[in-house]
Amino acid sequence: MPDANIPFALPFIGDEEKEAALRALGSGWLTTGKEAAAFESEFAAFLGSPPAAPVRAFAVNSATSGLHLSLEACGAGPGDTVLLPSFTFASDAEVVRYLGADPVFIDIGPGTFHLDLGALEAALDRLSRGLPAYPGGPAGRPAAVIPVHYGGLPCGMGPVLELARHYGARVVEDAAHSFPSLLPDGNFAGTLGDAGVFSFYATKTITTGEGGMVVTRDPEIAARVKVMRLHGIDRDVWNRYTDRGASWYYEVVEPGYKYNLPDILAAIGRAQLKRAWELLAMRRAIAARYDEAFRDSPRVIIPPTGAADARHLYPVRLRGGSPAIGRDAFIERLKEKGIGVSVHFIPLHIMPYYQKRYGLAPEQFPESLRAFRELISLPIWPGMTDSQVERVIGAVGSIGA
Ligand SMILES: *Cc1c(COP(=O)(O)O)cnc(C)c1O
Repeated sequence: MPDANIPFALPFIGDEEKEAALRALGSGWLTTGKEAAAFESEFAAFLGSPPAAPVRAFAVNSATSGLHLSLEACGAGPGDTVLLPSFTFASDAEVVRYLGADPVFIDIGPGTFHLDLGALEAALDRLSRGLPAYPGGPAGRPAAVIPVHYGGLPCGMGPVLELARHYGARVVEDAAHSFPSLLPDGNFAGTLGDAGVFSFYATKTITTGEGGMVVTRDPEIAARVKVMRLHGIDRDVWNRYTDRGASWYYEVVEPGYKYNLPDILAAIGRAQLKRAWELLAMRRAIAARYDEAFRDSPRVIIPPTGAADARHLYPVRLRGGSPAIGRDAFIERLKEKGIGVSVHFIPLHIMPYYQKRYGLAPEQFPESLRAFRELISLPIWPGMTDSQVERVIGAVGSIGA
């Protein structure tokens, strides 16, 4: 079917995933149980336990839930602020609001897709002196910083951790795009902050349809996430009450949440985890083909990359012209040619809720705005055929020629 539409994203589901789902369905146990426990320990083992304390992993029903639990465990609450890029997905800011804290948006650095360190430091400094993060902006103790590993390219964590520690803020990594991102020092993105959160949403690098994982080396965060993930039920109390395994007894120690991952999905996740390197190799091969084709393109600029890039997205920037109009028209032309694309991200500071609540102007974070106006995410999913990749390259090349 050479002329069939090429979707923006398509999950890679093989016989192993189907068998895993059937195994869970036939087990008599559909909710969180043995499969979820196995998924957690296999995921933690994948990330390894280099010099520092071992990583512990907690399966949840989405990365959004995981971000909420992580920030809660870090103590963010009313009167606090949480610093995050405007150039990210809705989840990162909405969970801050769930907790009654205020998001402080930070621009991305020029030519990067990551937190601008100068702007981050300036905001932390003002907040720590009781001033609003920027004139007219929110004030309050900086409880946490959320670096986002945009597109799978890890945000440099050294300076972010240093700044956060200096100002007494915790660090929750949004690693929704970066499974797996193996850094040159042997650590994975998502394991360097106080907590890291991965997503298994349908379009992500490995998927369970919906799902996520919180990882942490901090025993207090681990204990809190574990309790709050399931109704605030303290299982250690439960274990102390009886020495005979299963028991009807439990104690609710906080009004927790219902964020557990069912075994049907965890079983699929275990099969996907086994293919993580294979899927990465397939995405890399597509990215290498795009890099080669577009390196000298007069129309698009290829994304910055690095050895640890998980290649979840392939965002190209349109060159020159009138970017806002050019970009939208470009997407329309690709759509006419049967090619599905997307835009990552529409900055949060121009979203009606945040714009109105915090009195934000679009130009306040110019790099985020410019990236939004110029970017197009091309299809990059494992299983794309060479001819599909060539069709995308041909279509991009033909527009505006
Ligand atoms: C997808 C995504 C999330 C949310 O993941 P869910 O599992 O759908 O909750 C969070 N942050 C970023 C950057 C994402 O792309």
